[in-house]
Amino acid sequence: MTDRAILWDVRVVAGDGSPPAERMAVTVAGGRIESIGPIGAASPPPGSIDAHGRTLLPGLIDAHVHLSSDTSRSPGFGPPEHLHGEEPRRRELGYFVLARTTTALLAAGITSVRDVGSYDDEGIAVRQAVDLGLLDGPRVIPCGRIISATSPGGAIFGTMYREADGPDEMRKAVREQIRAGAGFIKVMATGARSVVREDPEPAQMMPAELAAIVDEAHRMGFRVAAHAEGLEGTRMAIEQDVDTIEHGLSLHRAPELLATMAERGQVLVPTLSTFHDLSERFVTCFAPVLVEQAKVQQQEAYATVAAARAAGVTMAMGHDSGPPGDNLIELVRMADAGLGDAEAVRAATANGAAALGLDDVGVVREGAVADLLVVDGDPLAGIAVLAERERIWLVLIGGRPVAGQALAPARL
Ligand SMILES: [Zn+2]
Repeated sequence: MTDRAILWDVRVVAGDGSPPAERMAVTVAGGRIESIGPIGAASPPPGSIDAHGRTLLPGLIDAHVHLSSDTSRSPGFGPPEHLHGEEPRRRELGYFVLARTTTALLAAGITSVRDVGSYDDEGIAVRQAVDLGLLDGPRVIPCGRIISATSPGGAIFGTMYREADGPDEMRKAVREQIRAGAGFIKVMATGARSVVREDPEPAQMMPAELAAIVDEAHRMGFRVAAHAEGLEGTRMAIEQDVDTIEHGLSLHRAPELLATMAERGQVLVPTLSTFHDLSERFVTCFAPVLVEQAKVQQQEAYATVAAARAAGVTMAMGHDSGPPGDNLIELVRMADAGLGDAEAVRAATANGAAALGLDDVGVVREGAVADLLVVDGDPLAGIAVLAERERIWLVLIGGRPVAGQALAPARL
């Protein structure tokens, strides 16, 4: 494979909301998009990849994944259940499951993910493995450990959390994540809906604590994502100038906060799928009180997507669920919640890039990074085609084909 490739006869959906362009050729070189132009009546140059009119769009971005925990809560994705009496399993097996995760994400057309919390800094380990070329996978932006006030969730999530109290310790916790290799900072502005002994309604840390986190992160050039469920913690996070609101399901109750988010460019990652998980998929393995709470939260989350859209808030796709590779169901849900197909495409492209703080992915534009997806079908006429694995025809990372049906061995 040379450094240069031509994708011939594609229909370009740029990802930024501009209308699609038919019968185009996209040339990639040096990992970036070199040129985009109409093919006219020409025939495909030798060595080009003829896509026969399929749709080319930016590689998709998932702004809310947990690389390790989404496997542990996805039965059937990892190894079979461990039975009593069987050989103990080595801790290191987890890294092979993570490798399977990155393969599954690529096969789904996902070329960038923001890891919003994994055990034992595994998000950072995956990011290194991908960056060093040891592993084919999406670009990973990891948070390291989630910074939380001392909380009941810390007793459950263990090494996924860095508990801290008081502004100085919060500042130190930010510095520790940067030292460990994080690409942004994740905080728990409120408790979590998956923890019986946490009330997701009030703010879980004090404004001065969050202010210290945001100040330290921004001063050093890192963005801040806030887990925010109840209204008071969400209000605090928006007022303290975090960059993204995760979940944010209560926002439909506070139009003034949605207006502030739209004005400041703060991104909402609604994670609808996680509410489906707790209220439908995992009803037998979560405490009943949490299942009941999730049913209400699910309705709130859908109401918030509609209200945020009306307010002009930028929304990005975040699956926050499993199994890895099933991420695009979140886009179908966002479309159903009121975004429609075209805005749903943006949620996983330009808006995803905005959530990650990147400006050269999530768009098909000359000079942008050549993270690209060629799909069989028209996502603008029905976003669900993106969720069908067999329609993912070709996935490129930095101009290099890494997944898709076009690479599958010919069937005999
Ligand atoms: Zn999450």
